[in-house]
Amino acid sequence: MTKSSSFPPIYDDEFQQASEHLRRTLPFVNQFKTPVNPVNYAVWYEYVSGDNEALTSAIDTRLSKKEPITAEVTQYLYEKYVLMGMPERIDKTNSGLKLVVDNTLENINRVEATATQCTSGLTQSQTDLENCDDVQELKTLVSQILLNTQQLTSSSTELKTELMRSTEEIIKLRDELEAVKQTARTDGLTGLLNRGAFNRELQNLCSQGDMVLSLALFDIDNFKRLNDTFGHVLGDKVLQYFATLLNDHRDDIHIAARYGGEEMAMIFLHSNLEESFLMAESIRQQFASSRLKKKGSEESIGQITVSVGISALQLGDTPLTLLERADKALYKSKADGRNRVNFN
Ligand code: GH3
Ligand code: MG
Ligand code: MG
Repeated sequence: MTKSSSFPPIYDDEFQQASEHLRRTLPFVNQFKTPVNPVNYAVWYEYVSGDNEALTSAIDTRLSKKEPITAEVTQYLYEKYVLMGMPERIDKTNSGLKLVVDNTLENINRVEATATQCTSGLTQSQTDLENCDDVQELKTLVSQILLNTQQLTSSSTELKTELMRSTEEIIKLRDELEAVKQTARTDGLTGLLNRGAFNRELQNLCSQGDMVLSLALFDIDNFKRLNDTFGHVLGDKVLQYFATLLNDHRDDIHIAARYGGEEMAMIFLHSNLEESFLMAESIRQQFASSRLKKKGSEESIGQITVSVGISALQLGDTPLTLLERADKALYKSKADGRNRVNFN
């Protein structure tokens, strides 16, 4: 399974699966004579693995129109669908920020130059005023002073307006950067955290020493069959539905993620094995008793179930050992007949 829904992408296919993907990429590489560099290989690897649906459909569209997939095209596909457009968006935000800062500095310099000019004009007028005894000359001097003062006021107003505009622009850019960061953490289909972000959270929590937490891995049962029977679109809807169940159980403290294709994960914070078992059981039961129907139809798609494996953080655990125990428990749930929760 390729976990390309995270940023950066994570590949954890077993040796045999990865070799099979390698074998299947070769005809494409050969057909389009693109060099086998990491970018081209990543694109074809994800294509043949079939796990990056947006990329697959973009390539399929090109293939159906008999458009060649050149190195430029793979570069584009790589940035858009493998890196999810992140570098492009970060670049855009960065250059936007640079533009605002440059503009602001330029405006400040311009206003400063005007202010210096006005100030020296006013200083000159002060000297002239001290030596002046002619009424006509006095009038001219006063109007000169007025002019300089008006110029000072107007340039400071101009600067204020400019600064307000820059502030607005910076706020917009900050929000855009926040959105980019959010997208990089989120799984596009379910809105849950993606695998990369989840792993970082887990790493942080595990390194805090005496944390009480449990980890649950959920794997939807016979999901391939569901896809084969009802299609991928419905499969996606089921994943989204399951994600809402996890979200409902999050209670604003637990952390839920899409760990891979039809695998989700949850960190139950401040929860021991018994407590997290009860929560996972409740999610499992709710899922199994949902009567999901096809859109616009009364026809039920039948019972869909999920198998769960739980482990609780112990002294000396790393994220890896914790995950391994949960994975073992999940494997046992599958082996025992699915639709159940086990812990280890
Ligand atoms: P098991 O009970 O042993 O877990 O069987 P399974 O069929 O659920 O497991 P398997 O690993 O054989 O198949 C998982 C399937 O999930 C295959 C893959 O096409 C599908 N899948 C992965 N990601 C997505 C997705 O984003 N959308 C849809 N619709 N299907 C996906
Ligand atoms: Mg699976
Ligand atoms: Mg499964």
